[in-house]
Amino acid sequence: MSEDKRKKDIAEGQDDGKAKESRRDFLKKLGVATAATTVAPAATAKAGSIAEALQTHFRLMSDDEKKNAIARLEKRYTEQFSKQVTVADTPAPEGVLFGYALNISKCIGCRRCVEACVRENNQSRDPAIQWIRVLRMERGNNTFELKELNEGSPSSNPLGDYGIQSGGHADKHVGLSGSTEHYYEPEQVPEDDAIYFPVQCQQCEDPACVKACPVRATFRDPNGIVVIDYNWCIGCRMCQLACPYWARRFNWGEPVLPNEDMNPKTHYLGNRPRMRGVMEKCTFCLQRVRDGRYPACVEACPVGARKFGNLLDPKSEVRKILATKKVFRFKEEFNTDPKFFYYMD
Ligand code: SF4
Ligand code: SF4
Repeated sequence: MSEDKRKKDIAEGQDDGKAKESRRDFLKKLGVATAATTVAPAATAKAGSIAEALQTHFRLMSDDEKKNAIARLEKRYTEQFSKQVTVADTPAPEGVLFGYALNISKCIGCRRCVEACVRENNQSRDPAIQWIRVLRMERGNNTFELKELNEGSPSSNPLGDYGIQSGGHADKHVGLSGSTEHYYEPEQVPEDDAIYFPVQCQQCEDPACVKACPVRATFRDPNGIVVIDYNWCIGCRMCQLACPYWARRFNWGEPVLPNEDMNPKTHYLGNRPRMRGVMEKCTFCLQRVRDGRYPACVEACPVGARKFGNLLDPKSEVRKILATKKVFRFKEEFNTDPKFFYYMD
């Protein structure tokens, strides 16, 4: 198969020989129903130009196409936010598989990680979008049992205790998730009767979200980080339904990001500003880690509960944690093979 044909097949969603629908066919079939039931897809986002709407999937762009797309975006963002904005396309470093380890016996529930993530990753301030949720659970309630975490699923659920969503809906949360809560407002933390359990994208090796995306807008990068090409996303929200970890957030409205709060150092597949009608989620701060830095949440945690590194390097901190601590992964029975590990001292 020629390289051109292969690229065309990937664009059409047929590179693996399976009967995948192309993005164009998929949109055609949805037709009016799509327009009526979803928020406008990225291609029609108010902020985007015709050239932006017509550009191809990031993975298929030639170097020249990438250069043009990035120049267009930098110009638009620089005008929009009245500051010099850069959009990097730094490639994935070789020989690296990123992994994360979080010490739940240290977490004090302060949510500085949440705030740092919002600032670093240009999340909408209104409506507020947050990629990290810190769940608060009652101490001594044995709440790490799967059954407890999954409470909220109807008892008639054929999946029994293994309901995919807990205590509400992925994007319309009720503040409670089983016996957990993520809108707690204590006078001070940590509280005597609480333990905290932060959840964000688990960067699955076998990601349910990627399998669910009908147009391959979301994909696993060579470092194992699951990313989204925001310009390719059609806003169907299949990925959000598929994710067992409530990790994806949808832009129902035009995101509001004040000029003074905008982080101008962005990456095409990471923290560049999103638009109405597209999905977003944690990328392990792709724009930082591809430059050899830590994710913002790791740096912000005041008690050092968050660790990050290369799973392929036996000397890395994460590998040492995996070798020496009591480690578990959240909802392991879904077989998504997360690269996000929880541990205790
Ligand atoms: S946690 Fe959810 S969004 Fe993240 S990679 Fe896994 S399935 Fe996808
Ligand atoms: S909403 Fe999710 S599944 Fe739908 S196109 Fe966007 S990334 Fe793919």
